[in-house]
Amino acid sequence: MTLDLSGQTALVTGASRGIGEAIARVLAEAGATVAVHYANSADAARAVAEACGNGAQTFQADLSDLDAADGLIAQVTDTLGGLHVLVNNAGVAVSAPIDASTSDWNEAWTRTMAVNLQAPELLCRHAIRHFQARGGGRIVNIASRAAHRGDTPDYIAYAASKAGVVALTKSLARGFGTDNIKAFTVAPGFTRTDMAQDFIDTYGEEYATHDLALSTLTEPDDIAPTVAFLASGLADHATGTTIDINAGSYVH
Ligand code: NAP
Repeated sequence: MTLDLSGQTALVTGASRGIGEAIARVLAEAGATVAVHYANSADAARAVAEACGNGAQTFQADLSDLDAADGLIAQVTDTLGGLHVLVNNAGVAVSAPIDASTSDWNEAWTRTMAVNLQAPELLCRHAIRHFQARGGGRIVNIASRAAHRGDTPDYIAYAASKAGVVALTKSLARGFGTDNIKAFTVAPGFTRTDMAQDFIDTYGEEYATHDLALSTLTEPDDIAPTVAFLASGLADHATGTTIDINAGSYVH
């Protein structure tokens, strides 16, 4: 079995660091030309693109700005000549305590929903139209264990946004399978990145590890190969599925 993405172009959002960086590197190792998207970390994104090789290029867009999100697919297809794989990975975890002011609460929900759900659905929409014209394509959306089990009271918005990603992906798989478009969700548990570090700083390392079946916290490199496998075409008949990667916390 060979995992071969040569001749394919893949957009990975939030590829400047964390899980997205690992996904970009693995897709490139499999031969893809990667569009390395970032919001603020221009230098880090450039370093990822250089490490990827294969003509990888960086693309900037703040996905809390829905106009910027709306234009990203066209930027990538204009620059790289097409798109075969979309990985919606960029995400934010914004705290909104139950006793926050209404304006702080609404701001946290608005930002969370924009980056984690509305930007992905806009990117999916444009990718699907491009894929329809090109004979097909694949989408991998990164959700979270929180989509299934909820989250702590401060991160209700985060869990709700990720549950939306799961439903979005299933609808795309149902609606566009006959256009040769496949859509998958990958739902990580705690994974060692800047985002997880914020949780660990707040709740302690024990909070991230106490309910794992495995003895170590998941690393970005534990997530990325599954994304590449889904993107490769070797798992097309699993379209609509959600793959949990959470160090066995559901069976612990
Ligand atoms: P991370 O280390 O915090 O990295 C976040 C990435 O998203 C960065 O590339 C960042 O770009 C980008 N990003 C942040 N805000 C953005 C915005 N407004 N517009 C565009 N891009 C933005 O996060 P991660 O842990 O790798 O998370 C990646 C995905 O996995 C997210 O969807 C997250 O919800 C999900 N996830 C993570 C965990 C975990 O424990 N780490 C668990 C479950 C699910 P810049 O570098 O340019 O800011």
